[in-house]
Amino acid sequence: MAIKQLLKRTSGWLYLNSSVGRNQLHGAGVILMLHRVLGNDRAANLPHRNELCVGPQAFEHLLVWLRKHFDCVPLMELLQPNALRTERPRVALTFDDGWRDNAVNAYPLLQKHQVPASIFLSTDFIGSRQRFWWESVGETLWGSHGEKARMHLIEHLRITGHPLPVLLDDIDVDRRSVALLHYLQGLKSLDPQELERLTNECPPDSLPQALDWHQVRAMEASGLVRFGPHGASHSILTGLDDVRLHEEISRSRGALQNGCNRPLPVYCYPNGDNDERVREQVANHDYPFALGTTTGLYRGAGDPLNLPRFGVSQRTARNPELLSLRIFRGARP
Ligand SMILES: [Zn+2]
Repeated sequence: MAIKQLLKRTSGWLYLNSSVGRNQLHGAGVILMLHRVLGNDRAANLPHRNELCVGPQAFEHLLVWLRKHFDCVPLMELLQPNALRTERPRVALTFDDGWRDNAVNAYPLLQKHQVPASIFLSTDFIGSRQRFWWESVGETLWGSHGEKARMHLIEHLRITGHPLPVLLDDIDVDRRSVALLHYLQGLKSLDPQELERLTNECPPDSLPQALDWHQVRAMEASGLVRFGPHGASHSILTGLDDVRLHEEISRSRGALQNGCNRPLPVYCYPNGDNDERVREQVANHDYPFALGTTTGLYRGAGDPLNLPRFGVSQRTARNPELLSLRIFRGARP
């Protein structure tokens, strides 16, 4: 396993430092997708957090690496067609959801290294105590809120006839975490109201999980961070009927217009899910650009309403050569 990873890192390094890599990346843009930056790296290493969370050390390591190999630019600069012909490849950072830790842990490091970023807010959560279900349910089942809370949620799942998580008592921490990851992925297809009911069975946290508008405006005033919408309730847009879809997009758009000085003309689909109907509605709300989750380089071609991104996990932030290997694979014609 370690040798496999070493080979991957070496190929990633070779790619970035070879003429093939340089040619492929010439004039191209890379959009990275992150979610959370936790307070410590050990917490971010666990498989059920690894995909959506990075630790502060890994994040800083990534920023230093990016500055070495890329021009770190604001998203809108990357999306300007005339801005694509630079010597070095360009990279733009995006964060989904609007987690409070973006202000507390990510922003000081963005400032320290002067790396611009865009944060996409699920606007119902901003300045409210509404919680993200996967965080609440996941961490309650993990036992982060104590054994009593964990047993209460499991009992609720049992009574309401939901499948129960497996292996949660496994002695092996990684195996337990992977099992939880799979379990949470399985819950994604549940009705949003059912997920909210499950969230309500979790104990309230001492702090809200999401940013408040004061934090949003303070980051925006620095000129380093801009904001765009990521849905209002984080409902998966492809699953909504026309009326609810319209309502969801206009509510998030209105909240950004009220809460920010210069909201981005870029929509960011929750979970990346979009189809023709969703893209059309987003365009009708005056968004010329939207971010998806398919991987690929940005070259100014392709659908501006389904822009590709590369996700960053704790693993890839710690070993950015793995990211360049993914960029290489995604860049292949
Ligand atoms: Zn999201």
